[in-house]
Amino acid sequence: MFKAKAYSVASATASFVADTIPRREAGPRDVQIEILYCGICHSDLHTVRDEWASVMPTVYPCVPGHEIVGRVTKVGPDVTKVKPGELVGVGCLVGSDHGCPNCRADMEQFCPGATFTYNSPDVHGTAPVTYGGYSESIVVDEHFVLRVPENLDLSGVAPLLCAGITTYSPIRRWGDIAGKKVGVVGLGGLGHMAVKFARAFGAHVVVFTTSAGKKEDALRLGAHEVIVSTDPEQMKAQAGTFNFILDTIAAEHDINAYINMLGLEGNITLVGAPEKPLPLSAFALLFGRRSISGSLIGGIKETQEMLDFCGKHNITADVEVIPIQKVNEAYERLVKSDVKYRFSIDMASLKGE
Ligand code: NAP
Ligand code: ZN
Repeated sequence: MFKAKAYSVASATASFVADTIPRREAGPRDVQIEILYCGICHSDLHTVRDEWASVMPTVYPCVPGHEIVGRVTKVGPDVTKVKPGELVGVGCLVGSDHGCPNCRADMEQFCPGATFTYNSPDVHGTAPVTYGGYSESIVVDEHFVLRVPENLDLSGVAPLLCAGITTYSPIRRWGDIAGKKVGVVGLGGLGHMAVKFARAFGAHVVVFTTSAGKKEDALRLGAHEVIVSTDPEQMKAQAGTFNFILDTIAAEHDINAYINMLGLEGNITLVGAPEKPLPLSAFALLFGRRSISGSLIGGIKETQEMLDFCGKHNITADVEVIPIQKVNEAYERLVKSDVKYRFSIDMASLKGE
């Protein structure tokens, strides 16, 4: 065991403070990584503030962060995937049973024994729960370590490990979206990646936003049209015309308003995970035989495919790079939907702590 610098919170109402956390020594199949950048996902905020208490209560101290890029500093003797000095990524998953049907189908995210990067029981016994990427280093089983394309800006690569795969996976799963009308609800970390991917796969992309001021950005990011969702006229004008909608909203909202935007047999997929249940109108689904689905990140194989796709097409997140000392301020801005479009923590800032 060794100590690593990190930022943690002690309770649901506490601010982040500098801390040290235990990390395990690299075992035979482990990769030790010096973390260079870590994105701030809204899931970090939900967890830190215990907003998902009914499903996944938070164990404190909590060290979030599952959008990790870094450099390999050490590998165990059985590691074949990466070498010291290479650039790698770690997303939301650090363990699974490898034997269940979901793991065998490359969907480790649905393994009943999945270990998430933070706030999951630590099967190695290093600490009560896993600690994430708001830290100078992490030790991860090689299966969950991703290769990062060398040609991309690293601060913008970090968010691909969660926001990227969470939007890439449902878009790919829905099928060939070329020429289809695709809606992206909420232009935040996930939403702006969804716009880039939907555009890259040839869709007609329409952003639904509550922030009229994000209109220019939405178009620059690749949207063909923008609907300000608080304007009933704009919503009415395109009702019943969408093939597929990805809903990334992090808070309570009227989902039926978006279901009504779908055409015949259209699908809305939820990736946003609001704290409270959303009331669903049966009629919104019945008329038009519409469907509603959910999606959770993506498996390791698909995450690598997404990173390779981003390398090939030069896709990264639009980030605001911050030192870790600004993390409390960043959280306040995240709840106000005031981020363009992902905070990425430069972990070099942790060295002076
Ligand atoms: P984010 O950067 O905060 O973006 C969320 C966006 O939703 C905001 O920018 C805002 O967009 C819109 N929004 C926020 N509050 C709203 C409200 N009250 N009514 C309507 N729109 C609102 O968050 P994120 O990191 O993209 O994460 C989004 C959600 O996805 C979170 O709940 C997160 O936990 C979840 N998530 C799920 C997965 C998964 O695997 N399913 C993975 C990662 C994250 P506008 O300003 O454009 O309206
Ligand atoms: Zn996330």
